[in-house]
Amino acid sequence: MSGSGKRPAPLFERLALIGMGLIGSSLARAVARRGLARSIAGCARSQATRDKALELGLAEAMFEDPAAAAEGADLVMLCTPLGAYAAVAQAIGPQLTPGTIVSDVGSVKQAAIRDVGPQLPDGVDFVPGHPVAGTEHSGPEAGFAELFEDRWCILTPPPGTDAGAVEKVSALWRACGSTIAIMEPAHHDKVLAITSHLPHLIAYTIVGTATNLEESERAEVVKFSASGFRDFTRIAASDPIMWRDIFLNNRDAVLEMLQRFNEDITALQRAIRWGEGEVLEALFRRTREIRSGVIEAHQAGTFDTREREKFGPEEAARDKGSRREK
Ligand code: NAP
Repeated sequence: MSGSGKRPAPLFERLALIGMGLIGSSLARAVARRGLARSIAGCARSQATRDKALELGLAEAMFEDPAAAAEGADLVMLCTPLGAYAAVAQAIGPQLTPGTIVSDVGSVKQAAIRDVGPQLPDGVDFVPGHPVAGTEHSGPEAGFAELFEDRWCILTPPPGTDAGAVEKVSALWRACGSTIAIMEPAHHDKVLAITSHLPHLIAYTIVGTATNLEESERAEVVKFSASGFRDFTRIAASDPIMWRDIFLNNRDAVLEMLQRFNEDITALQRAIRWGEGEVLEALFRRTREIRSGVIEAHQAGTFDTREREKFGPEEAARDKGSRREK
């Protein structure tokens, strides 16, 4: 792990990763590959995850106790589901010495600030973050070093956060290939409610509706899933605990977006009932434009680098043209 050859000095002496799942293990891999920390300590609840992390060489040491993992770290990164934040912050708080930076990767930022901030001693800065990258897979084996490349990492430092701490966390994510955006925490939660949380809720609902069908109809759903359903099943396969915590912790923003969604779907229901084809067509044309924009912004695909070529500039050009619907 020590910097060798032409490598610049590590950004951090000791990185503590609390949580070694998809995101924690991806960060461990990216940091190790680029020599961004002199050493990495990890924490996970289960012995199985701790053993696997050591076997994969993700950390020099793995701990069950977050406080033990955080000891002596100059950057502590919380990578657990949001529901664990308060207890983890309470455990590590007394261990932290002035100058330590605490950051996180959680998908809801107001709740992270609410649960972590008050537990930290004076002189310890909390720099909340959210790498907008992920897959539907979980656990230490699911991670990969390229996960954060060409993706956004949103930081939401509360007023008064030390600018140097924000810059050090920014430098870490930039070195992992991400572009930094600084946002107000409430704004972040609203934006993510529509771009991520509502789509997941819709996917969970559609797949749930299918599972409530009669046995024979359910079999047909799986058999003919390639007609659209399978894309929802991928999203709805995401980790149940992580997503439970996201909805419980971003309640207001999700409920607001859900209200708007309900109004829009009622309008579509009405258009279908009254045969208003022009209403449907106008909407479907507008949404196709959004898809082209997403591809052009290199935000298409499943964040799996193997999909890069599939969603490269050629796909974008094709999508812009008059591609016929299947
Ligand atoms: P994950 O693969 O399920 O991993 C969670 C990790 O946290 C596991 O190592 C788990 O240990 C550990 N953990 C859970 N509770 C703990 C506790 N109380 N103390 C110590 N460790 C604990 O989850 P993930 O997908 O990496 O997500 C982690 C965070 O990243 C979440 O806050 C999520 O909102 C955020 N995020 C996720 C994505 C995504 O697409 N997945 C994208 C961006 C941000 P065990 O394995 O032993 O249970």
